[in-house]
Amino acid sequence: MTPSPPHPRRTFLQTGAVVATAATLTSPARAAGAAPRRVIETDVLVCGGGCAGSAAALAAARAGASTLLVEKAPFAGGIITSVGLPYFDGIAHIDTHRIVVRGIALELLSQSGVCTPDATTVERHNPTIPNTFEFKLLLDRLFREQGDRLRVLFNTMVCDTQAAGHRIESVTLANKDGLVTVKPKVVIDCSGDADVAAWAGASYEQNAEVQPLTLHFRIANVKPAPGLSAACKAALVAAQGRGELPHFYGPGVMFLFGKDEVYIHGVRVPANPTDAADLSRAEMQGRADAHAMFRAWKRDVPAFQDAYFQEAYPWIGVRESRRILGQYILTEADLMQARRFDDAIATGCWYLDLHPNKTTLNGANDFDPKKVQPEPYDIPYRSLVPRELTNLLVAGRCHSATRGAHASTRVTVTAMAMGEAAGVAAAMALRERVEVAALDGVKVREALAQIGGGPFTDV
Ligand SMILES: Cc1cc2nc3c(=O)[nH]c(=O)nc-3n(C[C@H](O)[C@H](O)[C@H](O)COP(=O)(O)OP(=O)(O)OC[C@H]3O[C@@H](n4cnc5c(N)ncnc54)[C@H](O)[C@@H]3O)c2cc1C
Repeated sequence: MTPSPPHPRRTFLQTGAVVATAATLTSPARAAGAAPRRVIETDVLVCGGGCAGSAAALAAARAGASTLLVEKAPFAGGIITSVGLPYFDGIAHIDTHRIVVRGIALELLSQSGVCTPDATTVERHNPTIPNTFEFKLLLDRLFREQGDRLRVLFNTMVCDTQAAGHRIESVTLANKDGLVTVKPKVVIDCSGDADVAAWAGASYEQNAEVQPLTLHFRIANVKPAPGLSAACKAALVAAQGRGELPHFYGPGVMFLFGKDEVYIHGVRVPANPTDAADLSRAEMQGRADAHAMFRAWKRDVPAFQDAYFQEAYPWIGVRESRRILGQYILTEADLMQARRFDDAIATGCWYLDLHPNKTTLNGANDFDPKKVQPEPYDIPYRSLVPRELTNLLVAGRCHSATRGAHASTRVTVTAMAMGEAAGVAAAMALRERVEVAALDGVKVREALAQIGGGPFTDV
């Protein structure tokens, strides 16, 4: 585990590169003051429009706060749309299928046609949405319904923060307008990697070895056949033996989206996702491994004879990186004992799903998931609140939890539930003129209950 290092700026010099000084970088137009930086003021800034961030932005805007959502992709949805993962894990109890997260997560699932808005159970405890492109459209529509209260900037990278004392004063964005300064009253970090929290000086943990990264991809014109999974696995074992594939898991070869099209999860790339160079290496390795799998199946599995590589999703998926050290650190013991918290704002229920950095042939993990399956558990508000900053909340997979607890809280629906709570809390803090760090989590819980949000741990 690496304790929060300071966040120095990096300088890369390559042999033969021209080294620019500040003077040579200043364009004449900029020097003459012709290109002032754009400044945006907002009540709430949500950084990252994935599972947590989409819910946070909707919740804050619906509660009346002027909200700006910033996302580096050209669409929202995070892992669901940029890594193509259709699973709504964490929505329901594994055995009874009782829905334990309602609010925005259930709204998104029902609007995707999977269940009714008032459903109390789902057919499968881990339902999938039928189409990840339509999920982009759904989020676009819900954002637009908020009108001017919710502004959205896609293709926009959050790249720096400026803090004074214990507050974030401004956040720097980079997009087609150049560098943009945002002056928010409250910031919600839903970047998955706690980018904002780390850059603003909040303490965090990141293990030296984190869970592997996975690129998802789809292969079309595949003939469904008995024993297909076993044949695919055998082909990958052989490919690995020939040195064509460093690691893989499963593989999951699933006819999820169409009758002759398989969706694959099986790529496994060990990497450090908060290191830009290593992340780039992982992207290339992920693509190479996906294509190596395709070639192995074309060669060895008759069902793939006429198949073609349809597409890989744009980004390799990151399961784990920084976790903030918050006012409360949710532990594995809290989960396994289903400990109750007065300031519970969300319910989790997924097993402690920790992928190892090695090949596993019988699924994603090399342990029995049933043995690390908690009953529905509480997630306290304080696990969204960093210790050092008063106007920042952190929701989604980078909230404050031990590595073991995070292995469960990281799933899609649990992240949405935390995001919704953060959005509600941000709007409440603005109304009550207090900092989010000083808000009473019990009141956030009550506000969530009034709008049909969680927690639903015991209901
Ligand atoms: C390969 C893979 C498979 C998984 N399988 C499952 C599964 O089957 N079921 C399940 O429930 N969960 C699964 N998970 C876990 C789960 O999907 C994620 O942990 C979950 O998406 C967490 O939600 P989030 O909002 O915290 O992060 P994300 O959904 O990743 O959202 C973070 C968003 O922030 C944006 N962002 C990041 N940095 C910046 C920045 N600096 N500026 C602007 N935008 C930024 C990203 O583009 C992204 O849209 C899987 C994860 C991976 C990687």
